[in-house]
Amino acid sequence: MNPGEVGRLARAFEHSAAGIALQSPAGRWLEVNPAFCALVGYSREELIGNSFTAITHADDVQRSLEQLGRLNRKEISSFRFDKRYLHANGREVWVRLDVSMVLDDQDRPELIITQANDITASRQIREQLAENEARLSSIIRSMAEGVIAIEKDGSFSVANQRAAHILGAVPHALESLSLSDFESDCWRLDGTPMSLEEFPASVTLATGRPQREVVMGMERPDGRQVWIEISTEPVHAEGTEELISVVATFSDITARISTERALRESEERLSLAVEGAKLGMWDWHLDTRELSFNGIAERMLGYGRNEVESSLKSVRALAHPDDEDRLVDEMEAHLSGARPFFETDVRMRRKSGGYIWTNIRGRVTERDPHDRPLRVTGMLIDISQRKDLEARLNELATTDELTGLLNRRHATEVLRLEIDRARRNGGSLGLVLLDIDHFKQVNDRFGHDAGDKVLADVAELLLSRLRKTDFAARWGGEEFAIILPATDREGGSTFAAELLGRMQEIRTPDGNGVSASFGVVDYRGDESPSELVKRADRLMYKAKHEGRARVEVESQA
Ligand code: GH3
Ligand code: MG
Ligand code: MG
Repeated sequence: MNPGEVGRLARAFEHSAAGIALQSPAGRWLEVNPAFCALVGYSREELIGNSFTAITHADDVQRSLEQLGRLNRKEISSFRFDKRYLHANGREVWVRLDVSMVLDDQDRPELIITQANDITASRQIREQLAENEARLSSIIRSMAEGVIAIEKDGSFSVANQRAAHILGAVPHALESLSLSDFESDCWRLDGTPMSLEEFPASVTLATGRPQREVVMGMERPDGRQVWIEISTEPVHAEGTEELISVVATFSDITARISTERALRESEERLSLAVEGAKLGMWDWHLDTRELSFNGIAERMLGYGRNEVESSLKSVRALAHPDDEDRLVDEMEAHLSGARPFFETDVRMRRKSGGYIWTNIRGRVTERDPHDRPLRVTGMLIDISQRKDLEARLNELATTDELTGLLNRRHATEVLRLEIDRARRNGGSLGLVLLDIDHFKQVNDRFGHDAGDKVLADVAELLLSRLRKTDFAARWGGEEFAIILPATDREGGSTFAAELLGRMQEIRTPDGNGVSASFGVVDYRGDESPSELVKRADRLMYKAKHEGRARVEVESQA
């Protein structure tokens, strides 16, 4: 080496950006360059002659010595090694060392050349990255949604536990799968099969475009069917347009889908039930005063579709005049909040002219921000059959079927009311009891129907003779009672005598007339209906005793 070459080498040593140190085989510093001094914070003078162990981190000394031993034993000729120096300022400095042994002419260790680079900053970055990665993966792991990263070839590179749970796979098994493993097990919302190319991840891989909230159904390995809602996001190589993978995020919406399905089905069932049950529906918008009906309601009233004008006025005009006020009152009670819903029975005029009994009910279904009703929705039900039945039952409860007169129970009620009234007004009240004479013979000789006919004829006679305020009742088999308000026993007896005369005109099949025995009383004050009846009864039997076909009146007390 000529002096010029030596000088160049010396300058290279002096100006190298890497720290360079020469050591004896035992590890003592022989020479260090300025970059090395800067790295450890000591001057050349402070270092030369000392062992490297003095500035090596205690935890790294043992390892360093071991490597040095191997170099000296010529087991290795060089090594690379990351370790910590202790800087003069007390801090640790991470360095990457490239260490090699120079041998002399006899192949004996002569000199160690160490090149040192400060790797503190890059180590910090790496630690930071590792920490970020750990944090990110713990976020992904704990996400409530399933997350899968899909590489360009469709293979899964990352999958969290939730993803495995939703897809019914054992944890970590997903990472050995790829998109094509799910081919043929997936379908669209309408139930038709979904092909591999249609998978949202496939679409994003092919086009680079994210997919949002795509619903797909799939069969899991355990045979269970799940619905998932999936969104995908393309991942690009940093700062480029190059797609490197796709991240798919998805959640299990099986419960939501089945609830929606059940709801839809029950709505369908309900509308079928509404049709089947002949329920009329109506919908009233208070702001526009628009009131619309469904077809059933219109047909119920005998109108064709849309034949009734959709307005409150025209619908109100259909209500029976006697029911209209109640209808309005009931609705107002509900709208004002006095009643939780609205319901009343209303007769509605049919197109043909007559009225039909309906039950109309509803409730507020929409309110404005001030809680004022905006919309009322309800039903209209044909209750004409119920009303007919009610009327019929009512009649049966108060009247006698054969004769159409009041029955005994109802007549007793009437008598009680009339006694009260007479007591209050101080007016008189007459009571006539009559029993047909020898009626059993009519049955015996002409049959039961002939007997019935006589009973009906007597009833008709009574009704034809009554004033508007009087009541006739069938009191027993062939016994009748007549309640005569504002009539004393004289008046009653006149009336009875007249009836007796007219009875002759009622003929049995053999042409004979009918007669009866009468007991006549009037109300004396402070007596019950049964006491009044008892006195009349006694007189009636007296009439029987005295020869029948006669009227017995109570003599003046
Ligand atoms: P009397 O002059 O003493 O009153 O004799 P009677 O035969 O009228 O009296 P009785 O009490 O012996 O008979 C009454 C009969 O009325 C007996 C019963 O079979 C008959 N009867 C009661 N209810 C009905 C009915 O609804 N239809 C018919 N056809 N007969 C009835
Ligand atoms: Mg009798
Ligand atoms: Mg009789």
